[in-house]
Amino acid sequence: MVDLSSQAVDNLQAKVRGQIITPSSANYDELREIWNAMIDRRPALIVRCSGAADVMQAVRFARQHQLLTSVRGAGHNIAGKSLHDGALLIDLGAMNTVWVDPEAKIAVAGPGAMLGDVDHETQAYGLAVPTGINSTTGIAGLTLGGGFGWTSRSLGLTADNLIAAEVVTAEGEQIRCDENSHPDLFWAIRGGGGNFGVVTSFKFKLHTVGPEVMSGPIVFPFDQASSVLHKYREFCASCPEELTVWAVMRDAPPLPFLPPEVHGTKVLILPALYNGPLNAGKKALAALKKLGQPIGDGFGAYPYTGFQQAFDPLLTPGARNYWKSHNFTELSDELIGKLIDYASKLPSAQSEIFIAQMGGATNRISPDATAYPHRDVEFIMNVHTRWDTADQDNACVSWAREFYAATEPFATGGVYVNFISEGDDSVRSAYGNNYDRLSRVKSKYDPDNFFRLNQNVRPD
Ligand SMILES: Cc1cc2nc3c(=O)[nH]c(=O)nc-3n(C[C@H](O)[C@H](O)[C@H](O)COP(=O)(O)OP(=O)(O)OC[C@H]3O[C@@H](n4cnc5c(N)ncnc54)[C@H](O)[C@@H]3O)c2cc1C
Repeated sequence: MVDLSSQAVDNLQAKVRGQIITPSSANYDELREIWNAMIDRRPALIVRCSGAADVMQAVRFARQHQLLTSVRGAGHNIAGKSLHDGALLIDLGAMNTVWVDPEAKIAVAGPGAMLGDVDHETQAYGLAVPTGINSTTGIAGLTLGGGFGWTSRSLGLTADNLIAAEVVTAEGEQIRCDENSHPDLFWAIRGGGGNFGVVTSFKFKLHTVGPEVMSGPIVFPFDQASSVLHKYREFCASCPEELTVWAVMRDAPPLPFLPPEVHGTKVLILPALYNGPLNAGKKALAALKKLGQPIGDGFGAYPYTGFQQAFDPLLTPGARNYWKSHNFTELSDELIGKLIDYASKLPSAQSEIFIAQMGGATNRISPDATAYPHRDVEFIMNVHTRWDTADQDNACVSWAREFYAATEPFATGGVYVNFISEGDDSVRSAYGNNYDRLSRVKSKYDPDNFFRLNQNVRPD
């Protein structure tokens, strides 16, 4: 643990408006918690910033005292990159304001905003930026890695909708980047993660969405999973971009439209959302009922903000999590066989295999147009291994690794940077041919690798 004098900490407190938290502060344990309970680390200092000026001071202080520095938006990173023993933690959670210009269809989000904050403010005007599927995820980490969810097939990645950002550099100076100003930095932060500075505001292009959208899950018995997944594959091949259908295999949650005897039994769930007129959505979703003999469905016209929170109860903070992820261009017969095989032996009641449908607008951009390179991917598998107690760690982690290895032959070899788990060293796979260019941008903006507690791109 770094030994900082109380004088040094007092000096920093005098320069910032936010709170400085040390291991002896009453709220230290509360403020060092992150989403994944597998990660339990003790930073030397937490600077709970109230604005960009505080971020600048925190960076300068860390440099002066040679402190390793990590950055946290909403703390959802599965590898826990925002939290390190003995480091200074720049906590952006209080900077969560979202400002909307409905005429210009633009939103400016603070780096502490969660997806739910962004949806709440933008949907007040019937507008939205495409984000992810869990409303407590941070807009910052999500955007910096790429960001996809229910409307990405029609509207692109979250990062594809970024039009400008304010960034505090490794020198503690604030700069703005967009297509014209620091375009290399703007390219790098659209997928390149927190390697290049601390983003203190994100400016997004907005789209008309909802406010009601046809959406909901349809549930099939697990013994139909193979047949339904084969038909799902054909369905996805010709499905309109407005429609997004994911596939989830897990124990059935107590959904109100399922008979009680189905709760807790293994099922295949296809959650779907149609981003367009309700009538067209009704028809599009009805087609999913023909993929098998469903146990039930919860399809309806629901508020977009509601569906954006539909998975929240299954993704609450405080559980132990280990995720593995592959990108696929197709779901081959053999791959479907492996998915079913491993789904039939999920290691815990909360674990699930998630297949996100990609394609559409996310693939209409050239792989080198932004740092996010995976523009040929049709499906992203995320293995959500999730459990409660440390005595299950070995069984759960081993199952996930074995499953990952068994499905590797069918994958592209690339991985979404935001799904890399603790202990993995797949950063090059996350960036593919864009890695060297990212490395050059890193050398320009952070030659000393000050921002290294992340999925690290090294200066060249
Ligand atoms: C329950 C759950 C659901 C998810 N669902 C989706 C999904 O649907 N779609 C999807 O695309 N992803 C999803 N993710 C992955 C998510 O995008 C990443 O976990 C992301 O890192 C979360 O951002 P955060 O700000 O909450 O993370 P943090 O842990 O706070 O930050 C992650 C890293 O990002 C960097 N960082 C954060 N803020 C800044 C900043 N302002 N400036 C510079 N660097 C910064 C830092 O390096 C930090 O270590 C999900 C994750 C979880 C846990």
